Amino acid sequence: MDKEHDSIPMVDLQAELNLLRTPILEMITEVLDSGSYIMGEKGEKLEKLVAQYVNASYGVGVANGTDALQYALQLSLRALNIGDGDEVITTPFTFFATGEAIAQVGAKPVFVDIDEETYNLDPNKIEEAITEKTKAIIVVHLYGKAARMEEIMDIAKLNNLRVIEDACQAIGTEYNGERVGSIGDIGCFSFFPSKNLGALGDAGFITTNQKDTYQKLSMLRNHGSEEKYHHSSIGMNSRLDEIQAAILLVKLYYLDIFLHKRKEVAKKYTENLSDLLKKPSIPAGREHTFHQYCIELDKRDDLSEVLKKNGVASAIYYPVPLHLQKAFAYLNYRKGDFPIAENIAGKILALPIFPMLSYQQQDHIISVINTFMLSNG
Ligand SMILES: *Cc1c(COP(=O)(O)O)cnc(C)c1O
Repeated sequence: MDKEHDSIPMVDLQAELNLLRTPILEMITEVLDSGSYIMGEKGEKLEKLVAQYVNASYGVGVANGTDALQYALQLSLRALNIGDGDEVITTPFTFFATGEAIAQVGAKPVFVDIDEETYNLDPNKIEEAITEKTKAIIVVHLYGKAARMEEIMDIAKLNNLRVIEDACQAIGTEYNGERVGSIGDIGCFSFFPSKNLGALGDAGFITTNQKDTYQKLSMLRNHGSEEKYHHSSIGMNSRLDEIQAAILLVKLYYLDIFLHKRKEVAKKYTENLSDLLKKPSIPAGREHTFHQYCIELDKRDDLSEVLKKNGVASAIYYPVPLHLQKAFAYLNYRKGDFPIAENIAGKILALPIFPMLSYQQQDHIISVINTFMLSNG
């Protein structure tokens, strides 16, 4: 093994932190000196700036991305007088939290297969899954690539469904000139450390263009309270704290530069990796912010082993689609129900991608993969 590359991780948070250490420490010191640690000035500023960034009218900071999804659902369901047995349509090919949030609010996840191009909900298959009980659709902009929002919004309008965007992996992604999270009724974001905009702990965010939704969300994450010690509804304690907000303000400032770097890394992979693999496509009018760069190949597990031997990390997002997860066994789905999601789960492999990935590191990764493909394509 080549010593100089003895370990290339999926993401190098330390490299990013080293670059931003001074401004982050200065911002944290400001919070320490302010004496205000929850619901203060930094959080308020972050709510304004992230909403602006996403091109949404309102933003609400919450404790994590999963809570963001839960509140979005609670509101959507309440607003539509949802009771037990309400159904929410979503993709089986996503991080567990998307389906988990649906179950957590007492609704039933209904999965619809994905299309091979976007890895997101196939709009052609949504209508057959709609019943009288369907109240909302959660689209997931997986890996940083937008779902087919135009078609999905049309279906939602026709059937009076709310659309919640799980944009946890896709902050900044544009779709026909709009940013994801501002297209549906509610946008949900995660600022988990490894996300494209990451805190140094847990944090999440909700965006909306609807004033009443915004007001309800602000109360919900703060014990259903608008005015201290006056509670108009049962809420939760799920706030984004001042230290995380301060860190995120620094990182937000660099977000466009970092997203640009990700796109450059992706471009180099696409231009140089063997054409024997399936690489991510970017259709016209679309964009990809590459939270993950994923390739598809039959000998995925063999390649992953070879990469590991050569000091390169790789990962599978996600090996088991949600309908085959043990936690969702009660929904009675079977293997074969969503063949496209299942097939892709067996072939997908994510490669290291992060703003500070060096040319040398990337050359090494590409050469290991292309050598493998020469004898295994
Ligand atoms: C990360 C992620 C979440 C959950 O966010 P947390 O902040 O970890 O709770 C939900 N959905 C998707 C698609 C994600 O990638």
